[in-house]
Amino acid sequence: MSLNIIQGDITKQAVDAIVNAANTTLLGGGGVDGAIHRAAGPKLLEACRPLHGCPTGEAKITPGFDLPARYVIHTPGPVWRGGTHQEAKLLHNSYQNSLSLAEQNKCRSVAFPSISTGVYRFPLTQGARIAVDTIQTFLTTAKFVENVTMVCFDDRTYHAYVAALSNHIQKE
Ligand code: ADP
Repeated sequence: MSLNIIQGDITKQAVDAIVNAANTTLLGGGGVDGAIHRAAGPKLLEACRPLHGCPTGEAKITPGFDLPARYVIHTPGPVWRGGTHQEAKLLHNSYQNSLSLAEQNKCRSVAFPSISTGVYRFPLTQGARIAVDTIQTFLTTAKFVENVTMVCFDDRTYHAYVAALSNHIQKE
């Protein structure tokens, strides 16, 4: 069971499930959400409509349609509002609930983007720490999920996750 950090494009990942850093409408948006909808094709939006949105920190699943991934797990991360609006807890919930949904759907491999650290402005160092801690703890008890990949789009994000993983391992 392992967590891997790579630099790349999540829409190209041939895994059981990719996670989408969605917004609460689940009707598409910019950033990674826009890229996933473009690559999956218009059926993804049609599958999202009947879900009637998703609260922040929760997660919902659809097929991956034209993506190489079998499923898309949609989770709206928190918008950073100074850190006093339960942003850390909500970001933890996004990773945790996405992994639980992957587990319920018997996924072995899951890929995440860096949730909330783009347009939602969650501080990268703290966001990476929450992601790594939540994923590593989850992997200790998972039955189906065995490979989790953090797919970092840019250099700065990649280096932040590599540092968070090495800090986590030193703490163990
Ligand atoms: P949020 O609104 O949750 O902050 P964003 O899409 O703005 O979501 O950004 C989240 C992260 O996803 C950022 O690090 C951004 O660079 C990254 N990102 C954008 N496109 C892709 C992609 N195709 N694959 C992986 N990560 C991506």
